[in-house]
Amino acid sequence: MSYFSEKLNRVVLLSLFCFFVAGSLYAQQKIEGLSYIDGKPISVEIKDGKITRIESVDGLTPENKNKYIAPGLIDNQVNGFKGVTFGFGGGDLTLEDVTTATKALWERGVTTYFPTLVTSDHKLLLKNFSILAKAKEDKALLGSIPGFHLEGPYISSIDGFRGAHALKYVKEPDWEEFMELYEASNENILTVTVAPEIEGAMDFIKKCNNKGIVVSLGHHNGNAQQINEAVENGAKTCTHLGNGCANMINRHDNPLWPQLANENLMISIICDGFHLRPEEIKVFTRAKGYDKTIITSDVTKFAGLEPGIYKNMIGDDLELTADGIVQYPAQKVLAGSASAINKGVGHVMKVTGCSLADAIKMASTNSAKLYGLTDRGTLGVGKRADLVVFTLDDYKMDVKRTYVKGKLVYSSPE
Ligand SMILES: [Zn+2]
Repeated sequence: MSYFSEKLNRVVLLSLFCFFVAGSLYAQQKIEGLSYIDGKPISVEIKDGKITRIESVDGLTPENKNKYIAPGLIDNQVNGFKGVTFGFGGGDLTLEDVTTATKALWERGVTTYFPTLVTSDHKLLLKNFSILAKAKEDKALLGSIPGFHLEGPYISSIDGFRGAHALKYVKEPDWEEFMELYEASNENILTVTVAPEIEGAMDFIKKCNNKGIVVSLGHHNGNAQQINEAVENGAKTCTHLGNGCANMINRHDNPLWPQLANENLMISIICDGFHLRPEEIKVFTRAKGYDKTIITSDVTKFAGLEPGIYKNMIGDDLELTADGIVQYPAQKVLAGSASAINKGVGHVMKVTGCSLADAIKMASTNSAKLYGLTDRGTLGVGKRADLVVFTLDDYKMDVKRTYVKGKLVYSSPE
């Protein structure tokens, strides 16, 4: 055989190999493991990106014996990941950036997420929403981005409640201005965080609700009347309850009690082990129940990076510790989250004693329901085959494999 034909043969063989590997990713396949609902062995059959059958099986291969299967996680608040910031203003956010963040999230079992833009310069928001709108349609992202979260700029200007949002861009709601952002996002803003007590908020909430945009109360100091009125006007949930709140509040009159008390209001909580005390998580979940609580991350670009000292957007030093805390090294004050919601699944089980089924409900199913993502959020025939296969030892959800639309997008290197 000549050198040339040998080389040709190799190319043909390699092409065939690639063809079969690529084909097998979308062909019918069965994934076995323990059901996240009751821990019993199941087989999930998937074809053309969807779940076609789920059945119980007698036993599992040693390889799958200790692995659970659950619907992929859904995170409604992701500012960035692995060095990428969606609200970055120092240059152009690129498709490559969005792809980097998406792949890193897949590694943590997050198959759906809402890139989040916070209070910022209007032109920057317009630009980045239009970049995100194009990225969202990229086939390689497999529909992992159903839409976006706008957190601010219509929030409290008061220190503490405002959190880390830049004061100079905080303002009262302006429907026309918001519509410009909505158009730039190609009508993909799924949720907006608003303070109910500011001038024009109620009208804004009503209009968002009429358009099917989920209004979330956050970074506010609303009183009971304002919070209840916001819910009557269509507000449905609260953004990271217990954070975005001043340290010193009145023990009777503060925004926490009425948000916890209103049975028509859901909550999202940051469950990374640092943003809330265990007692807060216990009380919040007891008040709302596992059906009305959503685990979110509010994760920043520091997630997925090595521990060390980094600069923030305005040039301050920030420290990422080995435990995943992002803090200002001088004052040891939290400066954002660095953990995806798979950490929250284990943490919420540890502090509340809830089941894995309830934890997954809070990290996937409840978001799917709230945002109308009817094709995902549960293991069910006809749903997207967005699946996560993982072990759960010592309250640590360790992702072994992730499938998005039936495609294996992550396999742990063990
Ligand atoms: Zn916030």
